[in-house]
Amino acid sequence: MAADTYKTIIIGAGISGIGCAHKLLENKQDFKIISPDVGGRIIESDSKTVEYGAYYVMDIYHNTASFVKIGERIKPTKLIFHKSNHSYTLFDKKLFTHLPQLIRLILILYKFKRHYEKFKKRSVTESQINCLKKDKYLWKLYHSNAHTFVEKSNIKEIVYSYMAEVIHGTTFTPIKDLNAFTFLHFSLPLIVPVYEFIFKKEEVVRYLKSHLIQDEVTKIDFKNQQYCLITKKSKRLFCDNLVVATPPHISKKLLKFKQPLRKPAKANMLHLIGEIKSDWNQSDGNLFDDKNRMLAIAHQRDNSYLFYTKDAKPDLNKYFYNFKIIKHKHWNPAFNIGGDNIIDFIQGKNLFVIGDNNICGLEDSYIYGMYAANKVLGRTID
Ligand SMILES: Cc1cc2nc3c(=O)[nH]c(=O)nc-3n(C[C@H](O)[C@H](O)[C@H](O)COP(=O)(O)OP(=O)(O)OC[C@H]3O[C@@H](n4cnc5c(N)ncnc54)[C@H](O)[C@@H]3O)c2cc1C
Repeated sequence: MAADTYKTIIIGAGISGIGCAHKLLENKQDFKIISPDVGGRIIESDSKTVEYGAYYVMDIYHNTASFVKIGERIKPTKLIFHKSNHSYTLFDKKLFTHLPQLIRLILILYKFKRHYEKFKKRSVTESQINCLKKDKYLWKLYHSNAHTFVEKSNIKEIVYSYMAEVIHGTTFTPIKDLNAFTFLHFSLPLIVPVYEFIFKKEEVVRYLKSHLIQDEVTKIDFKNQQYCLITKKSKRLFCDNLVVATPPHISKKLLKFKQPLRKPAKANMLHLIGEIKSDWNQSDGNLFDDKNRMLAIAHQRDNSYLFYTKDAKPDLNKYFYNFKIIKHKHWNPAFNIGGDNIIDFIQGKNLFVIGDNNICGLEDSYIYGMYAANKVLGRTID
């Protein structure tokens, strides 16, 4: 092969690109991974103590667990919920008034988890879309509106007393804009232990090192049965298989595909130190209902705070005395999560698109990467 020609190139070294690279490395494949950074939306503070992007891992993240150092457990009992001007903990009288609804929600979540776990196992060797289609329960959930699902399942009061705040704080989206699959997926922390984490970035960089090209792809052409990539540093790279593992809006721009993306969710994140006012100091985490511009305030182990809001210039004096902003990041978008659009995995000859286009989260993105590698290795069943 000529110089700068590889069997496979992965664009993007977020967790989905890492998932693909990991499997190709295990199988001693000829590949490169091009990315300006490693981790993508797993991004930490300069102090390396606070995660600015992906914030938690679940107990059922079997594939991504080895890339993270597990931190403290995030307990629902340590959260304060804010609805209009009313604040309450998990053990509010609402919980007991709507106990039958809570039991129904928990049973639904266990059913979802059973299907979802099987789906994840299958999607290592079969495409996400085929696996969804083959499971009628999950397929129907994916194409049902979450609010309608909640009403039909007779769990509205319990959901809009607790889960709406959790969903708003973690997806930056109201329940009515999500599909029922995403709603249940992000409600799993009710039945599955959830932990803070630190990404083992140095280890991953070391592991990828000889395959990593620190650059950005600006253009993709298909000529003579090969992909030709042009980069920001004016390099030209060629490959037979191309795996695009960039965020959905970038993949769409690079490949110019027509399928519409899911609706984007945006948020402003401020990392700050200061003295929090007593109204917000009752617990480790504050979550706000989906009519609120506020999304969440999370106390960090280094005594700083992560403050999430829809507002670009929030009135921080309402929440803190003597504060100092360490970082302001506008997640625009944080992810594409609203609605039920699906992006096909195959976008051309040996051209594969992975990431969190269809299902958001670290574990599913990583598994999508494993599937892409299996496709290159000829080990998929579809
Ligand atoms: C604020 C926030 C909180 C979240 N919280 C959680 C959570 O708690 N738990 C959870 O499981 N998930 C969470 N997520 C979602 C999770 O982070 C994503 O679903 C997952 O990281 C997607 O991984 P990815 O590899 O597909 O994309 P990314 O992580 O976005 O990686 C894409 C990679 O492509 C690179 N790239 C972009 N353009 C180019 C280009 N032109 N050329 C080359 N490379 C390029 C980027 O630099 C990056 O390295 C959160 C996301 C955000 C933003």
